[in-house]
Amino acid sequence: MARRKLIAGNWKMNGSLAALAELRAIADAAQDAGGVDVAIAVPATLIAPAVAMAPGLAIGAQDVHAAPRGAHTGCVSVDLIAEAGARFSIVGHSERRADNHETDAEVKAKAEALRAGGLRAILCIGETLAQRDAGDAEAVVLRQLTGSLPVGTASDWLAIAYEPVWAIGTGRTPTVGDVTAMHGAIRGHLHALIGAEAVAVRLLYGGSVTGDNAAELLGAGNVDGALVGGASLTAAKFVPIIAAAV
Ligand code: PEP
Repeated sequence: MARRKLIAGNWKMNGSLAALAELRAIADAAQDAGGVDVAIAVPATLIAPAVAMAPGLAIGAQDVHAAPRGAHTGCVSVDLIAEAGARFSIVGHSERRADNHETDAEVKAKAEALRAGGLRAILCIGETLAQRDAGDAEAVVLRQLTGSLPVGTASDWLAIAYEPVWAIGTGRTPTVGDVTAMHGAIRGHLHALIGAEAVAVRLLYGGSVTGDNAAELLGAGNVDGALVGGASLTAAKFVPIIAAAV
């Protein structure tokens, strides 16, 4: 089945009001990129100004709390990011799993909260280098998928990003063969978990994607787009990745 490609950026804790000017050129490229969806996850404080700067672009958050409101100092709810104009959020990024000790159950609850609030989710899974070296990469990734997959998973609101932790921000990437093997395993496991809908769910690759390697990585089997960190910060680096997906 033909799945529309999705190229999503993750600005992490980077950017500024001044940096939002980059979104104009990214939005123009997104408009020209027929058949490709483009999205950018910005820091929470930049969601509203980013939407104002590039109204046509899907702007999202990088994390969200599962609870609707309450005593959760420093956190943001689905309603808060939606009110700011977010259309989606990343959940389960490996930096949050590592730095904030987020469990699969918490990631699942966050995704389910997004669905309940009418927003989309990009759910991240991926193994560490030690896990890969131990030969456990596939088992770890499929276990994360089982544990974090939200109830009601469907292609119209959820995409899954396979992001090997050792490839994030390092300049290292898996081989196309490794990506194809992992994405095939994820697709198969997803089918076992949710049945026929698994065929339509987009599987993104993330980890040191650049304009130079995007075409090759996007050509791997079962790769329906990319989640891009460092190279999403400027239009000059991000637009070639969008172009590689067209
Ligand atoms: C990410 O932040 O999810 C990511 C893949 O980062 P980078 O592209 O910089 O490796």
